[in-house]
Amino acid sequence: MTSYVAAIDQGTTSTRTMIFDHSGSVVAVDQREHRQIFPQAGWVEHDAEEIWANTRATAAGALANADITAADIAAVGITNQRETTLVWDRKTGKPVYNAIVWQDTRTDRIVNDLGALGGGQERYREKTGLPLATYFSGPKIKWILDNVDGARQRAEAGELLFGNMDTWVLWNMTGGPDGGLHVTDPTNASRTMLMDLDTLSWDESIAADMGIPLSMLPEIRSSSEEYGKGRAKGALGGVPIAGILGDQQAATFGQACLSVGEAKNTYGTGNFVLLNTGTEKVLSQNGLLTTVCYKLGSKQTVYALEGAIAVTGSLVQWLRDNLNMISTAAEIEEHARTVEDNGGAYFVPAFSGLFAPYWRSDARGAIVGLTRYVNKGHLARAVLEATAFQTREVIDAMNADSGVPLKSLKADGGMVVNDLLMQFQADILGVSVIRPVVNETTALGAAYAAGLAVGFWQGEEDIRSNWAKDKQWDPQMDPDRRAREYHNWKKAVTKTFDWVE
Ligand code: ADP
Repeated sequence: MTSYVAAIDQGTTSTRTMIFDHSGSVVAVDQREHRQIFPQAGWVEHDAEEIWANTRATAAGALANADITAADIAAVGITNQRETTLVWDRKTGKPVYNAIVWQDTRTDRIVNDLGALGGGQERYREKTGLPLATYFSGPKIKWILDNVDGARQRAEAGELLFGNMDTWVLWNMTGGPDGGLHVTDPTNASRTMLMDLDTLSWDESIAADMGIPLSMLPEIRSSSEEYGKGRAKGALGGVPIAGILGDQQAATFGQACLSVGEAKNTYGTGNFVLLNTGTEKVLSQNGLLTTVCYKLGSKQTVYALEGAIAVTGSLVQWLRDNLNMISTAAEIEEHARTVEDNGGAYFVPAFSGLFAPYWRSDARGAIVGLTRYVNKGHLARAVLEATAFQTREVIDAMNADSGVPLKSLKADGGMVVNDLLMQFQADILGVSVIRPVVNETTALGAAYAAGLAVGFWQGEEDIRSNWAKDKQWDPQMDPDRRAREYHNWKKAVTKTFDWVE
C-alpha cells in the first residue's frame, strides 16, 4: 500500500525533497543549498552537477526522515526554478557550461538584436505571451551556443541537449546517458520563448531566429502523466515520475487556484503573482506575461497571467550577505519594528533590471529619499516595503488586464513568515492577504500533479478540500496614506531608469 507522494523542488537557492500524505500535509523534508556563482556583474550561474548531487541526497534524506522506502511512494513530481538554462552532452551527461540562472542579464545584447529584426520588444508576444527580455531561456541557449567553443557545431550534430532544471533532473533520474528521458512540460516550455502557446509545440521560426537546432529541445508532454520511472539504483528507484510544473505554476496549483479569477503570490527569491485565466489565453496590455498555468494529461490547457518580480527575498539576502547588516533573514523584521515608518526612504532593487510591469533591462537599483534622519530601522522597512510595493504594481496591472479587481490574495513562500511585511502588504493593496496552513505550496503543487496522474488523488476537488487558511491580514492603513506612499514609490522607480546605456 503506497501512502505518500514525493515532490522534488529544485529551487533557485536550494533543492528539497518533500513527502506528503493524502491530506496534503508534509510528512518529511530534506533540503540542501547550492552555490550561487557570480562571475561578473549581472551574471548568475549554478553548477548543475552540484544540483543533481543535491537532488539525489535530498531524495534519500527525505525517505530516511520519514522512515519509509521507495515502495511507500505512489508517485513523484518535479517542480523547478524556471528559465534557468542548461546545455549538456547526451553521451557523457556533462554540462558544456554552468546553468545560466533566470536572474542573469548577460543576454541583453542578444535580446536587443532580436528585437531589431523587427517588432522590438513585442516581437514574439503573440506566439509566446512574453516580451523580449533577458529572463527567458531561448536567448540564454543562444549565448551558450555562441560563446562555448564548438557548442553550436556539436548542437547541430545532435550531440547536445537543452533543458531547464526539470528536464535535467528527470533525464538524470531516468538513467542519464543510459536512456534518460528528455522531456519537459508546457509550463516550463512556455518560459523558453520558443514555444507556441496555442499549439504547445516548439516554434521553428523563433528557434531559427536564435540559431537553436530543434533536435536539442526536449519533448513537451503534459504536466500530469506518467513519464517514466526512477532508475533502479536511485533513492526513488521504480517510483513513477508523474508530474512536472514550473515552480510558480506549481504554487498556483498547490494553492488550489483552480478557477478563473483565483490568484496567488509567492514571496521567495523573487515574487510571482499568477492569476488563473482558465482555458482562455489573455494577452497582457499592462506588462504582464501570458503563460501556461497547467495541463493535466489530455485535458484542455489552462493559462495564467503572471506578474514576475525579480528581486524581493533576495534583497533581504543581499543585506545579509553583501552588507552584513543582518545575520539572518528573520532579523530584518526586528530592525524594521524599531521604527514607525520608512523615514522617507525607498529602496528599488532593480538588480536584474526591472521585470513586471516595466521590463526594463536598463534599470539598476537605487535607494532614494535619504536624509541624515534615516537609520538602519528605516532601511530595513524600506527593504520589506519594496516587496509590497512591487506586488501592488503587478496587481494593479492584473486588475487592468482582467477588468475584475482582485478581492483577496493568497500568499506563500519564504517571506510570508514576516508579519510586518504581510500587514504592510494588505495595507498597501487595500485587500486581505491570506496564508494557508501548508506554506510549501510549490512542492505540494508538484505532488498533486503527480498524485492525480496515478489516482492517488481523484480530482481537483481533493485539492480544494485539502486547502485550509492559517492566517489573514486585513488592510488597516488609511487611504490617504496608502495613496501617498504608493505615489512616492512610483517616483522612486523612475530614478532607476536609463542607468545602463
Ligand atoms: P526560493 O524558493 O525562491 O529559493 P523561498 O521561498 O525559500 O525561496 O524563500 C527564501 C527567501 O525568503 C530568501 O530570499 C530570504 O531572504 C527570504 N526570507 C526568509 N525568511 C524571511 C523573513 N523572516 N523575512 C523576510 N524575508 C525572509
